Amino acid sequence: MKLLPWQQKNWNHLSGYINQDRVPQALLIHGNKGLGKQQLATQFAFSLLCEKPNSDGLACGQCDRCRLLKAETHPDFIQIKPDEPGKNITIGQIRNLIINLTLKPQFDTYRVVIINPADLMNNAASNAFLKCLEEPTERTTLILITGNISRLPATIISRCQKLNVTQPNKETVMDWLSQQNPSLLLSHAETLYNLTQGSPLQALDYIESKILTLRNDCFNAWMDLSKQKQHPVVIAENWQKLTEVPLLHWITTWTIDIIKCYYQTSPARLYNPDYKNQLQPLSQQLELKAIYKFYDLLLISRQRYMTQINKQSLFEEILINWFELNRSKT
Ligand SMILES: [Zn+2]
Repeated sequence: MKLLPWQQKNWNHLSGYINQDRVPQALLIHGNKGLGKQQLATQFAFSLLCEKPNSDGLACGQCDRCRLLKAETHPDFIQIKPDEPGKNITIGQIRNLIINLTLKPQFDTYRVVIINPADLMNNAASNAFLKCLEEPTERTTLILITGNISRLPATIISRCQKLNVTQPNKETVMDWLSQQNPSLLLSHAETLYNLTQGSPLQALDYIESKILTLRNDCFNAWMDLSKQKQHPVVIAENWQKLTEVPLLHWITTWTIDIIKCYYQTSPARLYNPDYKNQLQPLSQQLELKAIYKFYDLLLISRQRYMTQINKQSLFEEILINWFELNRSKT
């Protein structure tokens, strides 16, 4: 496993714990989404469990223990996550962990538990988990991961050593993205950086899932509507099926960029610099007040999106408004 380039400092800190033989009983890794917190935690766990780590402190990847880790059959490595995406971590899962911790580790090194996302432990689960923190077990280290530290109880936070994974700078993200994908155009890397607000792993995910193509298709349909070339109800029917992409977020950024173009913001500060040539004319043709009103509608729709079952009528309302707004173009 290779270290992510922006995590070198974090890694020095973690391997320092091992070198100085003061591995914390509980560690809380926090930071924004898409920075590789789980990967860092796994590297630390593997390094603690490996028989003969490399000189940089990373696991060797060759020994028997490393083989067990790769096969996900190492008995002293426990991972806890929600049983299904979107669900909480339950008290049943934590109780089961507590029973496991009453047993000694099976090998002579550490036992590592990773809980991710820790903020998804419900109240009962967090209360039960506090017991693990208050009554340490031998050679065991508990690693909590969260992208939302403010949602963890203060009683848990105060009992952990904290490690913050911070956002890398733009150059680092762009370099890393082009290493991962040598055929990636610089302008695309830039777009991805903006779209994901500097989150490298999410940007990579976008490349692999061809989300950029989908974004382009949606943007083109949105522009067709502005030229009255398509019907909003037809587009809404297509869009309600696209649950895997942040479509409402995209429309919101396109709208904000029109407003930014109106105020002649420099292209580098747009969310979508690659669409500047299409958005710029709209900022001249549309009435500013009407764009702000449309933006308000988007904010309300974003709140409703989570609870409203009928996504089609939600998109219809947005797209009909967008269509009408463009009818009054000057
Ligand atoms: Zn090893």
